[in-house]
Amino acid sequence: MRLRNVKNKEEVLNNCSFLINDPKAYKGKWKKLFNNNNPIYIEIGMGKGDFIIENALKFPDINFIGIEKYDSVIVHAIEKVENKIPNLYLIRMDAIEIDEVFSKEIDIVYLNFSDPWPKKRHASRRLTSKVFLKKYDYIFKGKKTIIMKTDNTSLFEYSLVSLSNYGYKLEQVCFDLENHEELFNIKTEYEKKFSSLGYKILYLKANK
Ligand code: SAM
Repeated sequence: MRLRNVKNKEEVLNNCSFLINDPKAYKGKWKKLFNNNNPIYIEIGMGKGDFIIENALKFPDINFIGIEKYDSVIVHAIEKVENKIPNLYLIRMDAIEIDEVFSKEIDIVYLNFSDPWPKKRHASRRLTSKVFLKKYDYIFKGKKTIIMKTDNTSLFEYSLVSLSNYGYKLEQVCFDLENHEELFNIKTEYEKKFSSLGYKILYLKANK
């Protein structure tokens, strides 16, 4: 993702009431922050936030947390939220630390158009590598559900194998999401762009 500078970035970040700057302090306490017992769904690598914001608005009885590692990207998501949404928080962090932020609290992990890390020597950085799947084990409350979308066939195939090898069952696998209207879908920024260019969107839902 090309990182564009936002002029008053620091001001936006410092004054945002739904951006959590010290996420490790909330480990085991996210329910308390949301002030309810509703399920918590997270998106790792939310980019500019279209997906997580639209979900939070559409499903007020589910709590959503968007995770993004770059300030210059997260600031765009913050600017899209006109009024604070009670069931939405954003975290600026690298997901490699995710097991230090949540403890048996998460119901669904969304991975939308994750960075593919095409070089073999970088495979462990893929968000569906065993390194990350091990970390997700600590954050899921009970049943583990990962939902992934991408346009990248290599990453998708890698993920199908990695998830299966790790004990996940593939509940749904779809090679052309646009043409499967029965699968409820909220589009991400990347998805809108790639769909409009004619790329097929690959989708999977896996449970453990
Ligand atoms: N999900 C958005 C979408 O579909 O439009 C953005 C996709 S973009 C290709 C991937 C995003 O994931 C980038 O904004 C990147 O900074 C973020 N990202 C990649 N690795 C990450 C990590 N380890 N932790 C947090 N964010 C990450």
